[in-house]
Amino acid sequence: MTDRRRDIPGTDTVLADPRLAKAIDLLGKPLVKKSVLAAQTKARSGEIEPEHVIDEAITGLPWGATSLQPVINATGVLVHTNLGRAPLSQTARDALVLAAGTTDVEFDLRTGQRAKRGRGALQALHEAVPNAGGVHVVNNNAAALLLTAMVLAPGKEIVISRGELVEIGDGFRIPELLASTGARLREVGTTNRTSPRDYQDAVTEQTGFVLKVHPSNFKIAGFTADVPVSSLAGLGIPLVVDIGSGLLRPHPLLPDEPDATSVLRAGANLVTASGDKLMGGPQAGLLLGDVDLVEKLRRHPAARALRVDKLTLAALEATLHGPPPPVVSALDTEVDLGRAQAIQRRLPGSQIVQSTAVIGGGGAPGVELPSLAISLPEHLSVKLRQHRVVGRVERGRCLLDLRTVPPEDDEKLIAAVLACM
Ligand SMILES: *Cc1c(COP(=O)(O)O)cnc(C)c1O
Repeated sequence: MTDRRRDIPGTDTVLADPRLAKAIDLLGKPLVKKSVLAAQTKARSGEIEPEHVIDEAITGLPWGATSLQPVINATGVLVHTNLGRAPLSQTARDALVLAAGTTDVEFDLRTGQRAKRGRGALQALHEAVPNAGGVHVVNNNAAALLLTAMVLAPGKEIVISRGELVEIGDGFRIPELLASTGARLREVGTTNRTSPRDYQDAVTEQTGFVLKVHPSNFKIAGFTADVPVSSLAGLGIPLVVDIGSGLLRPHPLLPDEPDATSVLRAGANLVTASGDKLMGGPQAGLLLGDVDLVEKLRRHPAARALRVDKLTLAALEATLHGPPPPVVSALDTEVDLGRAQAIQRRLPGSQIVQSTAVIGGGGAPGVELPSLAISLPEHLSVKLRQHRVVGRVERGRCLLDLRTVPPEDDEKLIAAVLACM
């Protein structure tokens, strides 16, 4: 018996194959070599024949140089934290790619001089919220709060209701974030009830600012009272409101979700929000409010450590100027029955069922969005994940909720399900 292991082609021979040589141009040598070594190992163990090493190395090549994999979100959760929150619109993706090269992000091509960084994105934000005197963008909403505390409350107190001491997720808590700047929290009211009087009594010359945090990921019901922004506006102390979701204007389906325009109109001096929740844009922290205050934030030394890159600025501007991003489309559009039927007909044994989609991402708890789902046997959920489709298991069935699947992904969804059957 001959030892077939001697027929396994050497690494350089395999890498010289034109298809793998091309892959080196696209992915770089280390990743391609890794796939070749894995194929050789399989041949050595007898799992594949030596003449199949090249094919196996090609099959084993990664998607790209990132290990992140594109996923179809069929969970019915519009802003899914574990799936990267808001997916960007095609317009924003195109802007990202453009900005990835050399750009005029801080340069005026007309004068040849330095220009204000991200002026296009800031202008777009200004146009979206005209009653904000100043606008600034940082890494995320947590960074926006951090910067605010560093500017307005060094060595001072932040007055906040006990009903608004929120844990955001993954163990991170807003009160601890604020305290990490050295500011002291002056808690007022109780978990369920806080009155205007509680705030008035707490404000002293030690107060840096009053903070209202939207309890975006939980709901307290029953004997409750909280203080509207308008009642806190006259205290003579900066009033900062963390609205969370990044709604810039009121939305008819989300009556309990505060929006930047209304909150500023009610008298807030500064609003902070995320860019990648209901706004449907890139991860970013939006700061909107009094022009002098925003300028102070922008000039603080720490602002440099929290600034966003050119990719974020490009995607943010394109999200604000372009067509509705996927999160907004999913919020505004009910699933068409004809679309669900067209999918169901192609998937033997599947059914269409009524479903309920939710906002998610720690936003608008209790809001239910009617939806339609493709119902499949529960055991398919595991295989579907291997095909990068994430559904939801409910009452012993695997549901693919169509409200969070952009219609242009329907063919990909069908192909993935058929491959699992
Ligand atoms: C999500 C959220 C945050 C955290 O925002 P990031 O952009 O993830 O830093 C802070 N406050 C509220 C009310 C939120 O909903």
